[in-house]
Amino acid sequence: MEDRIVTSAAIADEAQLDLTLRPRRLDQFIGQEKIRANLAIFIAAALQRREPLDHVLLKGPPGLGKTTLANIIAEEMGTPIRITSGPAIERPADLAAILTNVESGTVLFIDEIHRLSRPVEEILYPAMEDFKLDIVIGKGPGAQSIRLDLPRFTIVGATTRAGLLTGPLRDRFGIVHDFEYYDQPSLERIVVRSAGILGIELDSEGATELSRRSRGTPRIVNRLLRRTRDFAQHLGRSAIDREVASFALTQLEIDERGLDRIDRALLRAIIENYGGGPVGADTLAAAISEDTRTIEDVYEPYLLQQGFLQRTPRGRMATERAYEALGLPPNSKGSNLFS
Ligand code: ADP
Repeated sequence: MEDRIVTSAAIADEAQLDLTLRPRRLDQFIGQEKIRANLAIFIAAALQRREPLDHVLLKGPPGLGKTTLANIIAEEMGTPIRITSGPAIERPADLAAILTNVESGTVLFIDEIHRLSRPVEEILYPAMEDFKLDIVIGKGPGAQSIRLDLPRFTIVGATTRAGLLTGPLRDRFGIVHDFEYYDQPSLERIVVRSAGILGIELDSEGATELSRRSRGTPRIVNRLLRRTRDFAQHLGRSAIDREVASFALTQLEIDERGLDRIDRALLRAIIENYGGGPVGADTLAAAISEDTRTIEDVYEPYLLQQGFLQRTPRGRMATERAYEALGLPPNSKGSNLFS
């Protein structure tokens, strides 16, 4: 995938920036009020009982704050955090090695938890439920199964694809939260906070412009802030106001609706190549030379949420809004959706 300005996955030099801008405490975490309020209660209760927090499942597209929240949970609980991911835990032995080495109370953050293999998942169930690890020693008829006691810990699982999680795994999380795209006021607060940390002068209209065109995603608004600072410098301007922000976003090919070139290519392909749809994700991915998973995880959720796309059992369809966004007359390519 090319380095795309509105991709919500972290790009090359962003790890450090993410760290600098990441809120550390729950009260610095902006938006997502429901999970924040609930977590504050669950954390206080667990601390009072001197127990680890129940396992937490965080669902939602990349860049919305799942990793940030996992770190905050550890910070608020006063416990260490270990970070891993579904694909990194290849074999049951890898998970066993992690679990037998955690301190009591540790937060184990498993990103992309939907990508755990079945055998790994199977040893995770009793570990999550009873803090026991079943391991098999030896092979063949002489093999022995033994059960080890584990320290108590909290799994924080993150997934962009809740639908791919198996039922038994999902059921083992006591706290489940669906992240939603951030509303504009929340994104404005995030970008103003980030500008403060980075020492960037940003006026309120500049903040509005950036947050309006950031696909509801904190990671993107932070990235646009940085890129816009470059444009401001190039223009010899000390502050980011609406004019500078608007200029930068236009240069970056991000339109009024926050859609970029690839979003538009995707919508255009559905309309022009497939009569408005329905079209399958694989076909669409091939048409615009993108990876199917990236389309499903990153591009589609926002286009669906904003009403540019509709998902049907037979595939994706462009909506009237999509025609409008591309400046095409509705039904221009024989879609029967609106006839
Ligand atoms: P995810 O794990 O969902 O991909 P991250 O937790 O890595 O997303 O968030 C990306 C960046 O966005 C973080 O570095 C942080 O700076 C910013 N961010 C995310 N959520 C918030 C929030 N609620 N308040 C402030 N900043 C946030």
